[in-house]
Amino acid sequence: MFNNNIIKLLIDEPAYRHRQVLSEIYSNLVEDWDKATTLPLELRKKLKENFSLEIKGKIINSGRSDSLKAVIEFDDRIFVESVLLKHKDGRNTVCVSSQAGCVMDCMFCTTASTGFVRNLYSYEILAQLLFFLRILNKENKRITNVVFMGMGEPLINYENVMEAIRILNNKNFFNIGQRKISVSTSGIPSKIKKLADEGLQLNLAISINASNDKTRRAIMPGASKYPLEEIFDSARYYFKITGRRIMFEYVLLRGINDKEEDALELSEKIKDIESFVNIIPFNGEGIYKKPSARTINTFKDALLRQKISVTQRYEFGSDIKAACGQLVFKFL
Ligand code: SF4
Repeated sequence: MFNNNIIKLLIDEPAYRHRQVLSEIYSNLVEDWDKATTLPLELRKKLKENFSLEIKGKIINSGRSDSLKAVIEFDDRIFVESVLLKHKDGRNTVCVSSQAGCVMDCMFCTTASTGFVRNLYSYEILAQLLFFLRILNKENKRITNVVFMGMGEPLINYENVMEAIRILNNKNFFNIGQRKISVSTSGIPSKIKKLADEGLQLNLAISINASNDKTRRAIMPGASKYPLEEIFDSARYYFKITGRRIMFEYVLLRGINDKEEDALELSEKIKDIESFVNIIPFNGEGIYKKPSARTINTFKDALLRQKISVTQRYEFGSDIKAACGQLVFKFL
C-alpha cells in the first residue's frame, strides 16, 4: 500500500533523486516501478521490493456519469471518502478528505457522527488525488480543481495539508494552479491568518452557518469556541493579504438559522468583507430539516437587498453543494 516508507528508502539518496521519484509517482503516474525509467535500475529494484504503488480504493457507483465516489483504505485500515466531479465544460474537480473523522462535531454533519480517528498524512491526502488522476489519465484527462471539503477540518491538520498543497501546485508533479485549490474550514482564526501569510493564492471557504455566536454554539459546538467576530477579522485579513474573495458557506436548517432576521444580522457583520454567501439548503437526514423554497428565497433576498452577493452553488470550480465534511455523504 502507498505509504511513507519511501522517505526511509531514499534517506541516502541526493535531493534530485527524491524529486525524480516523486515525479515518477505524481507526474509520470507509474504504477509499476519497472516503468520508472528515469531512475537507476538498482533503485527501481529496491523500490519495487519495499514500496508498493498500489492505492487500495473502491469506487462506489452512483449511477451518475458525472461523478465518482471512492473509498480509500490506508495501512491501519482507516477509510476515507473522496469524490471526483466531471463537469461538462471539461473541468475535473476532486474533493479530498484531510482527516479520518473530525473533532468539530457540527450537529448537521455526518462526518461528525463518526468521531475523530486521526489526521491524514500528506501522502494519504495525495493518494486520494492520485487514485482519481490514474483513472482520468486513461481518458487523457487531468484534475483541474481540488477542494478540501471532504472529511475533516483541514486547518487542524495544517502541516500535512500544506505539504500536499505544495506538491499539488508544483509544476513537476500535479501542476494544479493555486487559484484552483480551495480550502474549506469551520473557521479557526489563527490558522486562517497563517494560511494568508503563506504567500499563496488559495480560495478560502468558511463554513459559517449562523449569524450569531448563540446559534453557532448550538449547531457547531466544536467550532464555536472561536467567536464570529474573530473569524470575520481573520477573513478580512485573508482578503487583505491574498486579494482572494472569501466564500461563506451557510447550511440552511429549517427553523434554526433560516429566518430573515438571521440574514440581516449576517449581512451587517460581513458587509465590509470582500465575500459572498453560498447558501446550502440542508439536504440530509436526522434532527434537521430542509427549509421550504419560500424560506430559502426570503433568506436569499434579504441578503441581496443588503448588497451581499449570494450563490446557491459552489463557485470555486464545481457545483458542489456542501460544507466541509458533508460533500462525500451528501453528494451521492
Ligand atoms: S462540517 Fe466540517 S468541521 Fe464540521 S464536523 Fe463536518 S467535517 Fe468537521
